[in-house]
Amino acid sequence: MSAYDLTGQAAIVTGGLRGIGRAIADRLAEAGADVHVFDLAPEGSDVAAAPAPHTFHRVDVSDSDAVGRAVAALPSPATVLVNNAGITRDRSLAKMSDDEWNAVLAVNLTGAFNMIRATVPGMVAEKGGRIVNITSINGVRGKFGQANYTAAKAGLIGLTKTAARELGPKGITVNAVAPGMVMTDMALALPAAFRERALSEAVLDHLPESSDIAEAVLFLVSDSARCITGQVLNVDSGQLI
Ligand code: NAD
Repeated sequence: MSAYDLTGQAAIVTGGLRGIGRAIADRLAEAGADVHVFDLAPEGSDVAAAPAPHTFHRVDVSDSDAVGRAVAALPSPATVLVNNAGITRDRSLAKMSDDEWNAVLAVNLTGAFNMIRATVPGMVAEKGGRIVNITSINGVRGKFGQANYTAAKAGLIGLTKTAARELGPKGITVNAVAPGMVMTDMALALPAAFRERALSEAVLDHLPESSDIAEAVLFLVSDSARCITGQVLNVDSGQLI
């Protein structure tokens, strides 16, 4: 059996309808997991039309009650959780509104806390689990115009380390993956100069794609990573060296 065989395991990927989350959901499903995508969906859209082979659940991860209900309704406890849902509301510090600050903290940081708290009892019942939080290299180094986002992503690293300490004795590993710039809708919303700077920072001649982030997540949820917990793995083509 391959170390990357997730047959028989239920996995939740938040924000898995598109971008990096979609690549992670696809890769975990390819490895045999029963993948549940927790995401928002445009009002009036057809939930049944969500991409197979994943099961789609309309959940706002910042809503702790909705998270609790959705996790309780799963057919079997999730033993893999990938906290990927994220948003940006960029503005310089002095001009940032309360709403911009609060919205980003609510999804990127509180959302991950809500998901971990709701899924851990099921993982304990299953005698183990794997949690991966998608942070960002900008949560480590800071970034002009992203006070809210970088604070949330740095907070996610602290949450990762504390959760690793608390949950390790229960057989649950908790790690973070920090992507550099990946050309998803989120990155394409940035000015072109930001993208050019990312490429000039990288020591490789290419930036990561969503599938590169998915490979790192698959490794961390696999048996190959059974002794790795509390770590941040940068997947950034060397942007942050
Ligand atoms: P994206 O905007 O393409 O996709 C984000 C997904 O999250 C969407 O499907 C969206 O509907 C979902 N989502 C947003 N708010 C949600 C909520 N409240 N509840 C549930 N789902 C919600 O973004 P992406 O570029 O694929 O980014 C994925 C993750 O990777 C994010 O956490 C992001 O911060 C992180 N990241 C991205 C980059 C990059 O360059 N793209 C770099 C570093 C880190």
